[in-house]
Amino acid sequence: ATMPPLLSAMANAGRHGVLVKSAVVMERLGQADAVALDKTGTLTEGTPRVTRVLPLAGSGLTADALLTLAAAAEHPSEHPLARAVVNAAQEGGLPLLPATGFTSAPGTGVAATVGDHRIAAGSPARLLRDPAASDAPETAEAAEAAAAVAGLEETGCTAVLVLRDGVPAGVLGITDRIRRDAAATVASLARLTGGSPVLLTGDHPRAAARLAAEAGITEVRAGLLPQDKAAAVREQEQAGRRVLVVGDGVNDAPALAAAHIGIAMGRAGSDLALETADAVIIRDELATVPAVVALSRATRRLVV
Ligand code: ADP
Ligand code: MG
Repeated sequence: ATMPPLLSAMANAGRHGVLVKSAVVMERLGQADAVALDKTGTLTEGTPRVTRVLPLAGSGLTADALLTLAAAAEHPSEHPLARAVVNAAQEGGLPLLPATGFTSAPGTGVAATVGDHRIAAGSPARLLRDPAASDAPETAEAAEAAAAVAGLEETGCTAVLVLRDGVPAGVLGITDRIRRDAAATVASLARLTGGSPVLLTGDHPRAAARLAAEAGITEVRAGLLPQDKAAAVREQEQAGRRVLVVGDGVNDAPALAAAHIGIAMGRAGSDLALETADAVIIRDELATVPAVVALSRATRRLVV
């Protein structure tokens, strides 16, 4: 017997390295007329590295001590930035201190108790500005941290702020390479869907703008919380677009769920993203996304 076209298209997608979860999804892929892409782990390789470790003057911490505390708090997190921090500590031969009471807030950061201190690590924008997150008023430490953060972001780094008992103690600079196939993928998707892809990211506008320029993306929405990413997608859907979302993180799950089609990056993707998505990229190549969209289009021509 010959396989129905959608089933053979799914098998074909599998050979391209994309797990399409159902025939309905296979069909929907070709209907996308708008695309939203996540930054960290999606447009970038998702293996960021710590390149700067800057303890604040008043913290009394050495660079190694700062990195040790941050790694202890980040250890349970599956976020790519957390893995970068833990890897840097390991490569530096630093001890992994035990941590208790771990909490994480998607799109914001983590916190844990390390020794006698509560250590938080995460988005400077959220931890410095949101008094509920840091309960730090405008202090000398906050001003010094803000200056260090701005300096790092100028150079295209993502800055991770480390707080000790709510007080800024230091800043880590992290850089992540753009995927080799990012620009080509953006161009292919624009051609296939008739609309230029939008970048949705929780990261700072400065870091986002630099990456977007490299990828050939002009529309950037930065500083978004997970629910903001979903709202941006729903906005488009309500305007009559069928949005294809590609993401990798826990923070992308609401947007993946709100999308007409959600695709998760499989290699470094979080379990929640993989479960929520309609399709999963198994081979770690972004260019497989336009490939399966084209495949769906070709199949539709066959079916109709
Ligand atoms: P993106 O949308 O680019 O994938 P996220 O939404 O995952 O980024 O994260 C947004 C921001 O939140 C990050 O740039 C970082 O500042 C902060 N953040 C989130 N999780 C962590 C973590 N585990 N450690 C440090 N910072 C984090
Ligand atoms: Mg991400």
